[in-house]
Amino acid sequence: MEIKNITVIGAGTMGNGIAHVFAQYGFNVTLNDISQQYLDRAIKTITGNLDRQVKKEIITDDKKKETLGNIRTSLVLEESVKNADLIIEAAIEDVGIKTKIFQTLDISAPSHSILATNTSSISITEIAGKVKRPDKVIGMHFMNPVPMMKLVEIIRGLATSNETLNVVVEISKKLEKVPVEVNDYPGFIANRILMPMINEAIYCVMEGVATPEAVDTVMKLGMNHPMGPLTLADFIGLDVCLSIMNVLHEGLGDSKYRPSPLLKKMVAAGHLGRKTGQGFYKYEGK
Ligand code: NAD
Repeated sequence: MEIKNITVIGAGTMGNGIAHVFAQYGFNVTLNDISQQYLDRAIKTITGNLDRQVKKEIITDDKKKETLGNIRTSLVLEESVKNADLIIEAAIEDVGIKTKIFQTLDISAPSHSILATNTSSISITEIAGKVKRPDKVIGMHFMNPVPMMKLVEIIRGLATSNETLNVVVEISKKLEKVPVEVNDYPGFIANRILMPMINEAIYCVMEGVATPEAVDTVMKLGMNHPMGPLTLADFIGLDVCLSIMNVLHEGLGDSKYRPSPLLKKMVAAGHLGRKTGQGFYKYEGK
């Protein structure tokens, strides 16, 4: 199947990055969101990121113009998917909202369209169970920031067909990404391994084993991680970390995944990391 037209639903952090990369590699991209203000902000972010790529001589100025020319925006979900070959949903991490979007896609998108989701933790099999084409539903889990990060976790739901999987693997390679095939289990691979590590780092702080600075220094200098786990947790958002730990705990039913009480307390206090100016560290000017 030839894939030419891509629709990205949700123009936030991940959606604008996904739109950027597909447009840069010559696909026609339609970017959809619920408000014009979010679409305008996404185009501004993409333009800024392309400017940075031009400055670093990764792309030319002509390539920047061509990339922006490949993106159109739309506020109407039904209209934005009417010619789509591949749809990537990157709306907020809410199972109710994602289910509603997928049910609309099932009705409005051409019958050949593949319906992918960038979810970090929601079951692909569960989303696929709500539509009439479960064989065409798949997870495409890009990493943040999308233009820089090479990995795409490709998550196969129980009913995902080999054809859908092959198309999505090939298209990821066309974007010069590295696709890794994963079966649908809570947290897939990335978050199944990353989040318990972050959670354990938080237990270390809670139990007084060491300060956040000490934990991060050990993991950076001792394990060669580019960023310590608590700095990374602040970057991701502590609310997001807690919600993924809850998915692992509920989905796998093992007490080793229980979220640290300190993580729960910080989220309850509104100390969510960089986005609120306070997490394990303080961020001035937020
Ligand atoms: P975000 O909050 O930055 O953006 C979400 C966007 O979706 C917003 O612009 C919002 O207006 C829009 N939206 C909400 N409801 C919508 C609807 N019904 N139709 C169209 N658009 C709608 O969130 P994000 O960080 O970009 O996350 C998006 C998805 O990607 C989530 O499923 C998240 O779990 C996943 N993800 C996030 C990261 C990350 O590091 N941020 C990494 C990998 C995967």
